Amino acid sequence: MTTTGQRSVQRPVPAPVQGIAGHRLEVTQAVKRFGATTALAGVDLTVEPGEFLVLLGPSGSGKSTLVRALAGIERLDAGRVRLSGQLVADANRHLAPEHRNLAMVFQDYALWPHLTVEGNVGYALRRRRLDPGAARARILGVLERVGLGRHGERYPHELSGGEQQRVALARAVVAEPQLLLFDEPLSNLDADLRERLRVEIATLTRESGATAIYITHDQTEAFALADTIGVLDHGELLQLAAPEDVYRRPATPFVARFTGVAGELVGTVVRLFGETGEVRVGDLLVRVRCLGPLVEGDVVRVVVRPAATSIAESGGTATGAAGCGVLAGTVTDVAYRGRGYDHVVAAGPWVLTSVHASRAHPRGSAVDVVLDPEHCVAFADRDAKRYDDNLTAVTITVPRDRVAPELARRIP
Ligand code: ADP
Repeated sequence: MTTTGQRSVQRPVPAPVQGIAGHRLEVTQAVKRFGATTALAGVDLTVEPGEFLVLLGPSGSGKSTLVRALAGIERLDAGRVRLSGQLVADANRHLAPEHRNLAMVFQDYALWPHLTVEGNVGYALRRRRLDPGAARARILGVLERVGLGRHGERYPHELSGGEQQRVALARAVVAEPQLLLFDEPLSNLDADLRERLRVEIATLTRESGATAIYITHDQTEAFALADTIGVLDHGELLQLAAPEDVYRRPATPFVARFTGVAGELVGTVVRLFGETGEVRVGDLLVRVRCLGPLVEGDVVRVVVRPAATSIAESGGTATGAAGCGVLAGTVTDVAYRGRGYDHVVAAGPWVLTSVHASRAHPRGSAVDVVLDPEHCVAFADRDAKRYDDNLTAVTITVPRDRVAPELARRIP
């Protein structure tokens, strides 16, 4: 796929198992306004056949509007959409959803309440003119595939939320569409079910060969599913890139914050070596990756990814052996996370959350936080200032309420 901006790594798209050719999708300068609100502010996007694109962004960033425009539910004010080369939407043309060979899965399942499970799934085949025997075989095959082989006679109200979403998934894939659109399909489900269904969605979609566009505001879900992540804010596509690129080379501080931060430090660039540099933060030197044009003396905001932080187990020095900065601080909170413990560490004016260690360091203890330069990214402060409102919400997160009471009692 290609993009307007930041993408630099081409991820291989897996070969489909069933061999359906997914749509190639081209969106050019898509604009959509609702009164004074600009929901899409000129989005350019290309998605290759079989690619799984996740659109990630906060509520109101334009994700649903973009997907609804692709589906043909929403008309664009300007711009063009092509599916497999065919112009389906521009200022004068609007091809109806049923002629775009796509299917959509919604957050609220959107099943017909008066139809059985088989009826709901079969509804998607009504335009295919299959003979009844072949249609039924295909419906039962897909229901079997989503684990609902014995529920065909039930009505939606006789199913759990997870089962209803599986019916919606079966209905989406049964007609072998070339494009699958998912609008926050897991938001209404419990955490464990969300994870299982996420895997099933990924597997079924990739088996089908369809191109997929999946909306979420949850970065974990985005990273778990995507070949490519598109980050939207205020109707603008800020970055379109492979997950590794979005994490390592976020296009803006906003993208960095929305895809995971442990905290932020403000300092001055003292030395630059190509894409890496040294930033003085108080009396500490921190090695960072510099994104965007910087010169020595610039004031920068260093976004520290959770992957950058760990607690030194046997003391630290002002600069670690591998060129890592070491920040001396005090643990203000600790939470059990299964694979170890996440700490909140205060170091002077800075607060770092999600600081990982294999053992719990009690509240009040002095620790050295090792910062891996690979995951500390510096942006010129003039950019970062635009996002100061979000900063408070992101950095001053104290996850006390996320510690189960019985665990909190056991952690000294
Ligand atoms: P997201 O899916 O990222 O939450 P949306 O695409 O739903 O965002 O909305 C983008 C912006 O457009 C928001 O400001 C939203 O309030 C506005 N919007 C979306 N749909 C409508 C509508 N039908 N009428 C008026 N405003 C709308």
